[in-house]
Amino acid sequence: MTFTELGLLEPLCRAVADEGYTAPTPIQEQSIPILLEGHDLLGAAQTGTGKTASFALPILHLLEQRRGAETAQKGKRPIRALVVAPTRELAIQIGDSFTAYGRYLNWTNTVIFGGVKQGKQVDALKRGVDILVATPGRLLDLMDQGYIRLEDVEYAVLDEADRMLDMGFIHDVKKIIKALPPKRQSLFFSATMPPDIVKLSKQMLGADTRQVSIKPEQTTAEKVEQSIYYVSKKNKPKLLAHLIVEKDMDHVLVFSRTKHGANKIVRKLEQAGIKAAAIHGNKSQPAREQALGDFRKGKLTALVATDIAARGIDVDDLAWVINYDLPNIPETYVHRIGRTGRAQASGTAISFCDGEERAYLKDIQKLIKQQLPIIDGHPWPDDGSIPEPAEPQQRGRGRGGRGRDGGPRNERSKKSESRRDEESRNDRSE
Ligand code: AMP
Repeated sequence: MTFTELGLLEPLCRAVADEGYTAPTPIQEQSIPILLEGHDLLGAAQTGTGKTASFALPILHLLEQRRGAETAQKGKRPIRALVVAPTRELAIQIGDSFTAYGRYLNWTNTVIFGGVKQGKQVDALKRGVDILVATPGRLLDLMDQGYIRLEDVEYAVLDEADRMLDMGFIHDVKKIIKALPPKRQSLFFSATMPPDIVKLSKQMLGADTRQVSIKPEQTTAEKVEQSIYYVSKKNKPKLLAHLIVEKDMDHVLVFSRTKHGANKIVRKLEQAGIKAAAIHGNKSQPAREQALGDFRKGKLTALVATDIAARGIDVDDLAWVINYDLPNIPETYVHRIGRTGRAQASGTAISFCDGEERAYLKDIQKLIKQQLPIIDGHPWPDDGSIPEPAEPQQRGRGRGGRGRDGGPRNERSKKSESRRDEESRNDRSE
């Protein structure tokens, strides 16, 4: 199958050839014909499958085919395609993809996101954009201020819907959907389909919706070599530096559950003489872009990222992912390891698992329906015991000492809960 055989216009086929794509990925092969026929689409696919091109190419094709319709109302240059994505990095990535795939056509796109002054974004909007890529908060903000009107949107895309939910954007997203005109083509992508996401998709999509599914299990099983290292929390920094050196990793993405943790990992790596930088929500946008740029150019060996900041990081030849912490949300594991083994490459994902995280490992293995191999031949094997705190914890956090069932809460559940709190705070503040 070629891009031409999918029915895409010649300038688009030329642009993807420039990008070095020789054949469509499975999601592109399935989605593009459906979208060119004008159907709504529900796509179950994770980042790394070629999902962006699966919607950007047909949108550009359809806009081009209907060129002229936008001049019907004189003096008006409406937004005709809207893509909503959960993070700045992902939004920028999508904007770059539209620019790359549309290089032989003449459609403008702009990316808007929070955390920076709005002036430049407003100027771009005033000049007129055909395709707008936005994170939900800034989009609503500029809609409220009257800079953005969605009444002429013909193509609406919600990308990484499950992340929107995780990040607490669900209400913003609902408001955005309400502001869209009823006559439109809608695309809804999510790596996982929990019940809330299915409900949201029903609000957005019409009766003629088609579904495509690129199962995470397929992606993880086929492409990414995965393994687990049991190691205590204390020994994780040593094991990390050891593996980077021993396995001669020159380009590794390390995941940390928290922002604070990410900074600490960078310090430890630097002490071991390994060039590293962190990318998370407390870093300024220029600092994040600098770190990402340095990593892409090979100036850094390790990029340490929180889950949210890592969304949209697109590094083509990323061979290694290390989960320094195991995520407590199993779907996050799938997202993380999807950073390697992208499109056509293969990759390796190594996960550290301390005693407390063994419960998370169980959930992950259940989700991906695989038993992951445990590598025990390393200098700091761990027996899985959870160290007791040195002193009884006195600091009350406004919570009772009883579990939901009325019984006393054990250490493990208290710890897991505080981790969940930490993670959700981490997410929200990014
Ligand atoms: P995405 O899932 O959209 O984030 O894309 C993942 C990566 O695959 C990006 O680096 C794309 O540039 C690349 N990619 C997308 N489509 C293709 C294709 N048909 N052939 C090769 N690489 C692709």
